[in-house]
Amino acid sequence: MPFASVPSLYAATAHRAPPRPPLNGEVRADVCVVGAGFTGLSTALFLAEAGFRVTVLEAATVGWGASGRNGGQIVNSYSRDLDVIERQTRPDSVALLAKMAFEGGRIIRQRVSDYHIDCDLKDGGIFAALTSSQLRHLEAQQTLWRRFGHDSLELLDTAAIRTRVGSDRYPGGALDRTGGHIHPLNLALGEAAAFESRGGVIHESSPVIEIRPGEPATVLTASGQVSADFVVVAGNAYLGGLVPQLGAKSMPCGSQIIATEPLDADLAERLLPFDDCVEDCNYLLDYYRLSADKRLIYGGGVVYGARDPADIDRIIRPRMLRTFPELAGVSIDYRWTGNFLLTLSRLPQLGRLAPNILYSQGCSGHGVTFTHVAGRALALAIQGQSDRFDAFASLPHYPFPGGRLLRVPLTALGAWYYGLRDRLGI
Ligand SMILES: Cc1cc2nc3c(=O)[nH]c(=O)nc-3n(C[C@H](O)[C@H](O)[C@H](O)COP(=O)(O)OP(=O)(O)OC[C@H]3O[C@@H](n4cnc5c(N)ncnc54)[C@H](O)[C@@H]3O)c2cc1C
Repeated sequence: MPFASVPSLYAATAHRAPPRPPLNGEVRADVCVVGAGFTGLSTALFLAEAGFRVTVLEAATVGWGASGRNGGQIVNSYSRDLDVIERQTRPDSVALLAKMAFEGGRIIRQRVSDYHIDCDLKDGGIFAALTSSQLRHLEAQQTLWRRFGHDSLELLDTAAIRTRVGSDRYPGGALDRTGGHIHPLNLALGEAAAFESRGGVIHESSPVIEIRPGEPATVLTASGQVSADFVVVAGNAYLGGLVPQLGAKSMPCGSQIIATEPLDADLAERLLPFDDCVEDCNYLLDYYRLSADKRLIYGGGVVYGARDPADIDRIIRPRMLRTFPELAGVSIDYRWTGNFLLTLSRLPQLGRLAPNILYSQGCSGHGVTFTHVAGRALALAIQGQSDRFDAFASLPHYPFPGGRLLRVPLTALGAWYYGLRDRLGI
């Protein structure tokens, strides 16, 4: 069944949402958005705030994709940092991309505050180094971010990180006080409600089966159609074959998460006394944090091509125990997977399929903040201010080598190489 319910901690603790019936019949809108993840919802909300009539079509339910399943970590910048971006595009675009790299967390906090979204927002994110070379990389990252005006990264030596993370694994790290974490599904549901409070319309259980270019463009589902002056394609890793040219330059990948039973207060305090979220600096990284009810939410592992592994605990639990051996006797209450969209450059892809059909996809892992930045860029482009959108669109898009047949084994081989380097500490 393609849209099975997700057995996640988030789904079990989601706020109630109103029924959002499927699209039925013909509708006219200024903008039709395909997909109700963070990309689609943030675009839709920015547009509704600007007075546009927006209809969102979602194949499953609000936040059913990666946005409602992820680690909930608010991480600044992009999956590749600004030094890589500097080498990839024009100086005027670099300045704008660097400015936007630190806006996502502010947009989320503004939304939470403006619309009173209850999503367990907490400040504080840690990048944890496992080797001295990763520590040197964090020092370089601090210098890089400072060069672009972002001064929030604080280096932590061995003793300092030990006061914030109860694990002996890390020789050091960096604290970003403007990072943080959220219950991602409740953020998505809150943003959907905010959008509806501005007159927006969301149809769930409404998979789009065709987008016909034109002025207006027509977006078709099995039981209806939306004619719209603009269309935004925001299906990301779950878009399937709807737009083959987007599929050819990206690859869905699965990541897995477990959540423990609620931890005893003393134990939770020992693991993460400041309630920060943590991601390590490996290529195939581990990420973790506490939930509001003090479960440890621990993620890691990547499955190229996004096949769901049969036994998630077997993959993730040993990783969790390497970090926190004292959790050996703790039971796992939830386990789930989700798909993010990888690009070859690991940089996001924004562009136009036609002058009035825009897309954003492929933030390759760090998407909670980026999707909110992309939402603003897409919404402004539709209002005729396309400098932000154009800066993203100036980043090169590459097809995956090997096409659909070989892209999974070739990428897995590349990841194996980088994983080996992580294990060898080089
Ligand atoms: C397990 C996991 C952990 C992660 N952890 C983090 C993290 O801690 N921090 C971070 O920054 N990033 C994280 N990410 C990445 C982040 O979650 C994503 O980059 C981001 O949520 C993508 O949002 P999106 O709206 O573009 O896509 P999605 O949230 O996947 O939404 C796309 C939506 O489009 C819908 N859709 C697709 N096709 C159609 C169609 N034809 N018709 C109608 N609707 C359609 C889908 O049903 C889906 O709801 C993680 C990702 C995963 C999978």
